Amino acid sequence: MNIDYRLKFALFLILAAIVFFMFKANNIFENKIVTHQSKSITFKDDTKPIQIGSTDETTYKIKKGDTFYSLLKQLKINPLLINKIVNDENLNSFKTLLPGNEIIFSNIGKKIFLKKFDGKSAVDLMEISGDRFKLKKLTNLNSYVAFKEYKIERSLYESALKAEVPNNIIDELMIVFGWDIDFVFDVRVGDKVKVLYKEFYLEGRLLGNSDILAATFINNGKEFSVFRFTQQGVKDYFSADGKSVKKSFLKTPIEFAAITSPYNLKRKHPILNTIRPHTGTDYRGKTGTPVKVTGDGIVVRANFSNSYGNIIDVKHFNKYLTRYAHLNNFERSIKVGSRVKQGQVIGYVGSTGLATGPHLHYEFRINGKHTNPVNVSMPDAQPINQYNKAAFNKVTKERIGLINNLSSI
Ligand SMILES: [Zn+2]
Repeated sequence: MNIDYRLKFALFLILAAIVFFMFKANNIFENKIVTHQSKSITFKDDTKPIQIGSTDETTYKIKKGDTFYSLLKQLKINPLLINKIVNDENLNSFKTLLPGNEIIFSNIGKKIFLKKFDGKSAVDLMEISGDRFKLKKLTNLNSYVAFKEYKIERSLYESALKAEVPNNIIDELMIVFGWDIDFVFDVRVGDKVKVLYKEFYLEGRLLGNSDILAATFINNGKEFSVFRFTQQGVKDYFSADGKSVKKSFLKTPIEFAAITSPYNLKRKHPILNTIRPHTGTDYRGKTGTPVKVTGDGIVVRANFSNSYGNIIDVKHFNKYLTRYAHLNNFERSIKVGSRVKQGQVIGYVGSTGLATGPHLHYEFRINGKHTNPVNVSMPDAQPINQYNKAAFNKVTKERIGLINNLSSI
C-alpha cells in the first residue's frame, strides 16, 4: 500500500463518514430544520480505540440524589479506584452531575467507557481499565444548526415546549427579548418566535445544544431580532444595528439633582421619628421640577398613598422596577399601563405624603428587592465596536437569511 493510495483511502473514509452523519442527523429531525455546519472530522491515532458506536451503549439519565460515586459503584468498579477517581480534582467538570444530565456507558473488552457532554461543544470521555483510568475530550462532535419556530397560543412557555425548544433556549429567549418585550403586558396570541441554535451529536446521538445564535420575536406585528456575537472575549446579544439588547438606566431622574437623604437601612424617619429604613434616594428639587423616568418601561402604579404621596412605579424589562414618590402631580398622559420612554417626563417634584419638604424619593428594585440606586451596577450595554462591525454584519446577514429561508409561519 503506497502513501498515495492510503491518502485516497483516508479521504474516502472521511467523505463516507460525513455523508453518513448527515443522513443520520437528517433522520433525527422531525421538525423542519437543518443546515449542515461544515465540521472537519479528523481521525487521530489516539482516537482509534474508541469505536464505541459498534458496542452496546447504555444511557443513564441522572436523577436527584445520584452521585458520581454511586454511579461508579453500580458499575462494580473496584473501591480503591472509585476513591481515586472521586478525589481527582481534574475531574470536577465530569463529576458534577445535575439531574437530567446523561452519562453514556459502554464496555469494550475489559474497558469501561463513560461519556458526558461538557455542555458546550465537546464530550468528556473516561476510560476505565483495570485499576487505571484516563480522561480525554472528544471534540470531533458533529454540530448542526437547528431551527425552531412557533406561534404563541396560550403561554410563551407552553408554546415553546410544544415546539420542542430545549429548556435552556426557552430561558434564554426570555432574557434576550425581555429587554424589549414585557412578557406580562406585551405578549399576544399569534406572536411568533423563530430561533437558531446548534445541536451537538456524537455518532448520531444528540448530546445537547448551544445557546441562541439568532432569534426573532414578532410581537404584535413588530419584529425584534437578536444575534449572538462575541466581542473582546465576551459573548453578548445585539440587535441587527449592532446595539446591545441590554438597556441602561439614566443615572438620576431629575437634572442637577442633589441627594439629601441617601439609601440607608437604619435611618430615623424625619416625621415619624422612628427607625425606618430608607430604601431609596431623596433628591432635592423645587416643587414642579420635572421628573424623568430612568428607563423604558410600563407604568404599573400611579396613585396616591398616605406615606408616599403621589407615587409612580415603572416596571422595566426583565427584573427592574423604579419608583418615584412625593410627586406634586403626574404628567397628564401617565396612568397604569402607559408605556414610557427613557427620559420622558412622568411627573413633577412635590411634597405629598409623609415629606418634610419638596423632594423626589426614588427607588430602584431588582427582582422586587430594594437596591441602592446610586450603587446599582448597570448592565454593560456596549454596542458592536468599529473593528467588529464588518464581521458582525456578515454573521447577522447570514443568520437572518437562514431564518427567513427556513421560516414558514
Ligand atoms: Zn425618601
